[in-house]
Amino acid sequence: MIRCFIGLGANLDEPIAQITIALRALAALPDTRLLRCSSLYGSKPLGPQDQPDYVNAVAELETTLEPLKLLDALQHQEREQGRIKRRHWGERCIDLDLLLYGDQTMRSERLNIPHHEMHKRSFVLLPLCEIADDLYLPDGRAITGLTPEFSGDLQRIGPPPVIG
Ligand code: ADP
Ligand code: MG
Repeated sequence: MIRCFIGLGANLDEPIAQITIALRALAALPDTRLLRCSSLYGSKPLGPQDQPDYVNAVAELETTLEPLKLLDALQHQEREQGRIKRRHWGERCIDLDLLLYGDQTMRSERLNIPHHEMHKRSFVLLPLCEIADDLYLPDGRAITGLTPEFSGDLQRIGPPPVIG
């Protein structure tokens, strides 16, 4: 089993409900176990400012799905929840990003692991530190030692959603 982390974000159509639906879908993936989810966090948008604030969380999985199969599953779930591409860094009912896949590094047009901007974003780093403060990036940097460039006035807004 490979230890993976998924970043969840939503700012349309009842974001907390969207995150909860996505977590249930992660828990139901084949060959995969949902181990835990962080608290829910609220943040100001990155990119266009004329959009609602975000709700963010990070989930930890164990899986034997290959990275591209896992990405397929995440993108399938985004479509299931009705995600429409509106504009770059624009509003969305759900965003599911594959942040880390074990200690693997991958660089391709479709999939970058670690997710290319994760180390800069407090809405990823804080929830990640909450559930996995023992974590290292594949380049050897400790997750707890990273300083985000984008704060987004991140705040904890609630406990982890209850799944199952
Ligand atoms: P963003 O999450 O940056 O707002 P999107 O969710 O619209 O953007 O994703 C854009 C593209 O990013 C997708 O087509 C996907 O193939 C690619 N991508 C590259 N690396 C990853 C990753 N680690 N997790 C999710 N998508 C990724
Ligand atoms: Mg995405």
